[in-house]
Amino acid sequence: MSEPSDIRIVLVETSHPGNIGAAARAMKTMGLGELVLVNPKDYPCVEATARAAGADDVLANARVVDSLAAAIADCQLTFGATARLRSLRWPVVTVREAAGMAITERQSSKVAVVFGRERTGLSNDELALCQKLLNIPVNPAFSSLNLAAAVQVVCYELRIAALGDAVHEPERPEEEYAPAGMIDSFHAQLERDLVDIGFLDPDNPRQLPLKLRRLFIKARPTINEIKIMRGILKGLSRKRNATDA
Ligand code: SAH
Repeated sequence: MSEPSDIRIVLVETSHPGNIGAAARAMKTMGLGELVLVNPKDYPCVEATARAAGADDVLANARVVDSLAAAIADCQLTFGATARLRSLRWPVVTVREAAGMAITERQSSKVAVVFGRERTGLSNDELALCQKLLNIPVNPAFSSLNLAAAVQVVCYELRIAALGDAVHEPERPEEEYAPAGMIDSFHAQLERDLVDIGFLDPDNPRQLPLKLRRLFIKARPTINEIKIMRGILKGLSRKRNATDA
């Protein structure tokens, strides 16, 4: 048995500091300790420490950042925990499947699970940064699960999977997956080039940037594949410039 301590938990724009403390407590009871807070509303706060009930070391080590992209820039597999199953098609796994994948893949990939705001959850742009959506199957007649309770369920399943009860066939890449930050900068370059060739209208982008981002996130490209794509963009732009000249 090995502790699931290397799995990162990310809380996005949490409003109630009590929930941050309760999430830290939920994490520590299950052997997790890596907490990242994206723009917490009211933090640090005595209420967070009180609700952490002894898990104050998790709070003390928590990193505060100003965007989800920054929170997961080094991650190669990110799950977005969501109560609602969005209209845009996106791979959804149950919390149990997700935990199995996370524990299998953590040997080769940095893994994070992201949780949304108490009232509104995660935005589509934030979900687009995640390879998979994670759902806790709840009673459809009463589906409201508190943020810290959702963190508890996820951390429990991670622990069970780490104990070896969940078997998941690993996706075995021959090479390392590209971290989120690398996909991000490739995507920024792609968008600039698409504006340059007139395919993307910056004043009326519609859903194109989001759809393209989803395409690349879903594909889980390796570092080498991103380098190939960057090389292609560079080659095309060289050719364009030569023709323009
Ligand atoms: N009203 C919000 C729910 C927010 S609950 C909404 O409709 O999206 C706060 C966070 O807890 C969610 O963003 C999600 O990360 C997590 N959560 C709550 N219920 C969940 C469920 N059934 N499955 C997965 N995550 C859940």
